[in-house]
Amino acid sequence: MDYLVMQNRANAGEIEPARVISARDKIVAVIGGGDTGSDCVGTASRQGAKEIHQLEILPEPPSDRTADNPWPEWPRILRTSTSHEEGCMRRWCVTTKKLTGKNGEVTHLHGAEVEWQADGPRYKMRELPGTEFVMPVDLVLLAMGFVHVEHSDLVEKMGLSLDKKGNIITDDNFETSISGVFAAGDAASGASLVVRAIDAGRKAADAIDRKLK
Ligand SMILES: Cc1cc2nc3c(=O)[nH]c(=O)nc-3n(C[C@H](O)[C@H](O)[C@H](O)COP(=O)(O)OP(=O)(O)OC[C@H]3O[C@@H](n4cnc5c(N)ncnc54)[C@H](O)[C@@H]3O)c2cc1C
Repeated sequence: MDYLVMQNRANAGEIEPARVISARDKIVAVIGGGDTGSDCVGTASRQGAKEIHQLEILPEPPSDRTADNPWPEWPRILRTSTSHEEGCMRRWCVTTKKLTGKNGEVTHLHGAEVEWQADGPRYKMRELPGTEFVMPVDLVLLAMGFVHVEHSDLVEKMGLSLDKKGNIITDDNFETSISGVFAAGDAASGASLVVRAIDAGRKAADAIDRKLK
């Protein structure tokens, strides 16, 4: 997410604020309704965006847990962050079909509404005919999901084993499929939280120390 990283670097005084991708006076579309999308909404709002639209492909979650989502499972409920409260338009069940523009700059987002139908244990998406829309946009931010650690270079060249989701496989001692190579944090667990990465980093350091001794 170049956009968020740049703003953080500017806040930390590492780069000139003028070099940051800015949403000032722009119509912004954030594609993706998750936490990263919410961070984009908040950043665009504080940069002085003219309008912010957050487009999510999945249906609007319920405000309370449903019967098939009991405690202690992660509650799949609607979350409204302080960023949302600062102002944005949120839409659910919307797919983006294409972006168009001129002179190398985006000017329009072409979307359509979708519905999700149960298909055995899974859900199938269907575009609703006649719901296509075109909206003017000046800045489009892609926040559609963290997949896994980057595989290029280090991971692929070393030939580290990966799990089905593309995360680096480690044993209980944080050691990867290659002896003497360790992994911890998001690279091994998949997208998670800072506290978990810190904890895993400390435990991995202990495990490395034991191995060296
Ligand atoms: C937009 C966004 C918002 C988030 N908000 C929160 C939040 O509010 N609270 C929270 O707890 N968590 C949040 N997270 C999750 C949190 O950032 C991660 O869980 C955490 O940073 C994982 O730490 P890590 O050290 O495993 O990986 P990272 O923080 O990703 O660090 C990995 C580092 O390795 C570097 N690197 C990659 N390849 C190489 C290489 N070949 N050689 C050298 N260095 C390399 C990368 O540049 C990077 O600096 C957020 C994540 C995102 C993307």
